[in-house]
Amino acid sequence: MDATVAVGAVRDVGPQTVALELESPDGFDAEPGQFIKLAATVEGEEYARFYTLSSPGVDDTFEVTVGVDPEEAGPFSQFLLDLEVGDELDISGPFGQSYYEGESRVVVLAGGPGVGPAVGIAEAAVDDGNEAAIVYQTDAPAHGNRLDALREAGASVVVVDGAIDEEVAAAVTGADDEQVFVYGFAAFVEDATAALDVAGIDPDDAKVENFG
Ligand SMILES: Cc1cc2nc3c(=O)[nH]c(=O)nc-3n(C[C@H](O)[C@H](O)[C@H](O)COP(=O)(O)OP(=O)(O)OC[C@H]3O[C@@H](n4cnc5c(N)ncnc54)[C@H](O)[C@@H]3O)c2cc1C
Repeated sequence: MDATVAVGAVRDVGPQTVALELESPDGFDAEPGQFIKLAATVEGEEYARFYTLSSPGVDDTFEVTVGVDPEEAGPFSQFLLDLEVGDELDISGPFGQSYYEGESRVVVLAGGPGVGPAVGIAEAAVDDGNEAAIVYQTDAPAHGNRLDALREAGASVVVVDGAIDEEVAAAVTGADDEQVFVYGFAAFVEDATAALDVAGIDPDDAKVENFG
């Protein structure tokens, strides 16, 4: 689906990180972990980039979380950080096959802005009465309030600045209906895949979204 939607809210949720709440277009449906394309013209140049849902649902509005690494990112993500309520964006989607499908236990490995889908998936799982665990690698944590609420609701949440092997091994159980998810930029996906290997879990069984 292609649509132009208004920004309903912009929330600072961490260092250089915002959660953008966008109007859901009529008939829009997407699952936690799927992503959409956002497009806009910035300083006369057209950009289109992908962002993963960070809300557990898409009724009326949905949310994406944008994390900007000032040393790596270009003008488009900075433009998203500076958006204001009422600004409009072109969206298309949803896209992606790595999404939550009601599995009885979810383990989400998140690097940097991968925390967006981590909170969205874990909240959806907890709402469904399922188990959730998050291993979040970052040196600048975001979404602290939602991670705390998930802990209070019984989810396991660990935030790590550095190697994640031990935390991944502790989070995965290998149970039949357990599903591992991996969201983040390429270097994190490599670390997470290696950590799964060490923990005896086949990385090919994980649902992985590489941010690039
Ligand atoms: C399927 C998919 C889902 C994505 N979901 C999200 C999401 O939910 N939230 C989100 O913030 N981004 C997400 N991204 C990344 C996003 O699309 C942009 O690439 C990012 O915001 C940078 O855009 P830019 O135009 O500012 O910089 P670009 O000029 O596009 O950045 C160039 C390169 O810098 C590196 N880079 C950029 N930002 C970072 C960073 N924060 N950490 C490490 N390396 C970085 C990457 O290698 C990137 O390819 C996703 C990407 C894909 C492919």
